[in-house]
Amino acid sequence: STVTTPTSPTFEIHLSDTPASTAEREAALAAPRFGVAFTDHMARISWSQDAGWTHRRVEKYGPLQLDPATAVLHYGQEVFEGLKAYRYPDGSVWSFRPEANAARFARSAYRLALPELPEADFLGAIKALVEVDSAWIPPGDETSLYLRPFMYASEPFLGVRPSLEAEFLVIASPVGPYFAGGVKPVSIWVSREYARAGSGGTGAAKCGGNYAASLLPQQQAHAQGFDQVCFLDARTGTQLEELGGMNIVVVHADGSVVTPPLSGTILEGVTRASILTLLEEAGHEVSERPVLLEDLRAGLADGSVTEVFACGTAAVMTPIGRLASDDFDLVVGDGTAGPVTTRIRAQLTDIQYGRASDPHGWMHRL
Ligand code: PMP
Repeated sequence: STVTTPTSPTFEIHLSDTPASTAEREAALAAPRFGVAFTDHMARISWSQDAGWTHRRVEKYGPLQLDPATAVLHYGQEVFEGLKAYRYPDGSVWSFRPEANAARFARSAYRLALPELPEADFLGAIKALVEVDSAWIPPGDETSLYLRPFMYASEPFLGVRPSLEAEFLVIASPVGPYFAGGVKPVSIWVSREYARAGSGGTGAAKCGGNYAASLLPQQQAHAQGFDQVCFLDARTGTQLEELGGMNIVVVHADGSVVTPPLSGTILEGVTRASILTLLEEAGHEVSERPVLLEDLRAGLADGSVTEVFACGTAAVMTPIGRLASDDFDLVVGDGTAGPVTTRIRAQLTDIQYGRASDPHGWMHRL
């Protein structure tokens, strides 16, 4: 079947009959916590093998009714994205490189044998939702509206084959500064027991299953007093890959910067790519190559590694202050945020919040 998607798709708007009161909304916006409160509406597009993408709409936020045989509940055929909408002082609303999220969403869908949503529908859904729920974009410093596009296999059928039906939705949650009281370094447990992804697997896709696999090691790291887990490559267990929800970057005393390559087992972070560009422009020598745990340990011990940070949409850049595993426990630099991390973080957030010019054309007006 051939279905054409208009370049500027139209979304039907069905307004909620029970939106939050102004007082309720303002309470949620005053102290937004990540992913706890949601806006009044959600955007939605349905897909079937026969009809393609249909029924573009914005509707009341609320529970989904699922047949117990719905494919996603059994085989985990699901993908998602994460990006933010920022309100500028002049009232306009912008997002950061959403085309990159649309492209990654299509790649993730392909890997999970789900239909690839056209970029115009991905962007159109975000724009339609943000327009209807624009009162939910928090006004404060370092706040934003976190957008969560996702798609799941919705066919009620227990056979192990790609679903012939899917639902795409976007929900939105007002979020505050990730770190109350400033950017605080985190401690990392390097997992030797569990891997997150293997060669030929789904590590480069943003699918729920990858996160399910990361929860037990994350829980165990927490129990030992660590904030996050860093995973090693599954094949040799010698190279750093990434954290459960952030990429990792190493800064050396000579200014050179190294981050693991996009080998197929890590997520291609939009923040990672943007930071590498900013670092290169600032004169740092940047390489994407395997980071051996052994070399990192030696570099931390002899001082040739000065900063390590994690990066992703939620926390932007997070300094790593301590790195440990069964057989080592090392402090990074003096355990506080280093100058390169601090400078590049400020540069990136200045672009995102419209405080600086945007020479790369990264900001997209919604
Ligand atoms: N790795 C993983 C596993 C992630 O979940 C994320 C968050 N999407 C990232 C890296 C960072 O990606 P981005 O910068 O696009 O948010």
